[in-house]
Amino acid sequence: MPPSFIDNYRHKGLRKKLVEIVKMNGVENPKVLDAIGKLPRHLFLESAFEELAYEDKALPIGDGQTISQPFTVAYQTELLKLQPGMKVLEIGTGSGYQACILSLMDVEVHSIERQENLYHKTKNLLSKLGFTKIKTYFRDGFLGIPEEMPFDAILVTAGARDIPQALLNQLKIGGRLVIPVGEMATQKMLRLTRTSSNTFDKETLEDFKFVPLLKGVVKK
Ligand code: SAH
Repeated sequence: MPPSFIDNYRHKGLRKKLVEIVKMNGVENPKVLDAIGKLPRHLFLESAFEELAYEDKALPIGDGQTISQPFTVAYQTELLKLQPGMKVLEIGTGSGYQACILSLMDVEVHSIERQENLYHKTKNLLSKLGFTKIKTYFRDGFLGIPEEMPFDAILVTAGARDIPQALLNQLKIGGRLVIPVGEMATQKMLRLTRTSSNTFDKETLEDFKFVPLLKGVVKK
């Protein structure tokens, strides 16, 4: 980590407590908990939010977007059942925090953001933090990344009204799509597992509140 990014004992202590909260709320996968314990979340936020970085809360990251709640990040990551070397697509790069958690799971990460400002800001941060293997894209996530398919896992970190067909098409057989879906202010977390070229097993899980998954891109 470059010297300009300070991660001190206080931050580390607060992270330990955060891991306990995430664990208490039901996340069990030790590798996921380890990743939450390792990654300095305050570095993904404006300094004004440093004091709040290790509370289990979503926080603003500019451009009208938020960094997801740590529990949500851990919960979605656990649902993907990742194994080292898997190829993973994230929709909604945002701050880059979730993409880094995925990268700490030793998977190949591809992440799409639709807001150009945020895309550039986060691409820059990821490279400064040394997460050089994460591939970021300025695109509409509804379309996935056809030239990189198929994916072992696809994670959507914004609330969708329905499930984008392109994302289902880009899953490997046996692969999983984790996506919050709902028409109102809250969404149900869904996990779709591709069981054959044209069949999917669907699990409906807990309620969450995400910023909306929107079509098209926003140029600066
Ligand atoms: N994973 C992020 C969460 C950011 S909030 C993090 O760890 O910080 C969700 C993000 O999804 C926002 O940045 C929003 O701009 C983005 N988004 C919404 N619709 C999108 C789409 N169709 N394609 C790509 N990104 C999208």
